[in-house]
Amino acid sequence: MNDRVHQGHFARKRFGQNFLSDHFVIDSIVTAIHPQPGQAIVEIGPGLGALTIPVAQKIDKMTVIELDRDLAARLAVHPELASKLTIRQQDAMTADFAELAAEAGQPLRVFGNLPYNISTPLMFHLFTYTNAIRDMHFMLQKEVVNRLVAGPNSKAYGRLTVMAQYYCQIIPVLEVPPTAFRPAPKVDSAVVRLVPHAEIPYPVQNIRMLSRITTQAFNQRRKTIRNSLGDLFTPEQLTELGLDLTLRAENITVEQYCRLANWLSENPPQPEKEQE
Ligand code: SAM
Repeated sequence: MNDRVHQGHFARKRFGQNFLSDHFVIDSIVTAIHPQPGQAIVEIGPGLGALTIPVAQKIDKMTVIELDRDLAARLAVHPELASKLTIRQQDAMTADFAELAAEAGQPLRVFGNLPYNISTPLMFHLFTYTNAIRDMHFMLQKEVVNRLVAGPNSKAYGRLTVMAQYYCQIIPVLEVPPTAFRPAPKVDSAVVRLVPHAEIPYPVQNIRMLSRITTQAFNQRRKTIRNSLGDLFTPEQLTELGLDLTLRAENITVEQYCRLANWLSENPPQPEKEQE
């Protein structure tokens, strides 16, 4: 039997389709989400409904965002689901989650077994809507979950870690082997819960500064910050901000990155003078 065919659907690789088929894993995820009637529940990538069906059994309506036209069409005529679902056949990367929350009149509870090829950019997209989100539960590559929860001074600590922890508290929920999916992915997976902070612990004046500094530092992660951030800060400024010049990107805490970002917002780099 072709293991790419699941419930009569040929799994499309370009849409990252690995369908959950392990009932213990499915039950554990639904228990972790704990959906309640009246909540504004949104699923990204419902696929053939492995999570949608047990979640919908607990509530009376929910919204799903599915890019694959064939799968969206199947859901629209699904005997158990059709009457409960608002189906948005679109790319979740372009979804306006603030609009969905405004329509629901409350912050969203978002979940999904995410297509691994877009999971990181999709999380960055969702971070821009954390005011409109109550919590998120995602199945991701285990390696990505390790990066989300990493602390400084480790290989897994990176730009994703800093930006995710800036916005959210992050709680690992469950590890999932490849055998839980059809077709089986080549990598281990894990479920994680992200809860936007009620109050950002280290607020920055301009998020673009934090994004810029972390990009620059982690793109040159082997260099000391004296070198990697040398065009933004003088060695004296870094020292005044409490940073040892021999530190590398992975040694700097979220709080320290936020301190650097705020200093830069107040002291923006001068545009280079044009050559005469
Ligand atoms: N939830 C199902 C399950 O657990 O069996 C399917 C999960 S599968 C890993 C990912 C799903 O996301 C697929 O249904 C795929 O078509 C959908 N998808 C892929 N890219 C998407 C995108 N950009 N926006 C919305 N859905 C997408």
